[in-house]
Amino acid sequence: TYVVTENCIACKHMDCVEVCPVDCFYEGENFLVIHPDECIDCGVCEPECPADAIVPDIGDPNLGFWLEINRKYAELW
Ligand code: SF4
Repeated sequence: TYVVTENCIACKHMDCVEVCPVDCFYEGENFLVIHPDECIDCGVCEPECPADAIVPDIGDPNLGFWLEINRKYAELW
């Protein structure tokens, strides 16, 4: 899955949402999140993000915090 991280906070761009083929972006409190079970790992959103906030989950333990936040807010919808 791809994960939305800190740089997304307060970013007003929605380019990522528009390109996602499976519509797996959801709104968090003041940022967007990706539903980790719905993301198909296409990678299309990553270069579209002007804040460089979207990163692939390749097992970096530091990303665990953000992965949980993405899941938490995505599952509220
Ligand atoms: Fe959507 Fe593809 Fe980005 Fe996953 S990697 S959130 S499927 S655009």
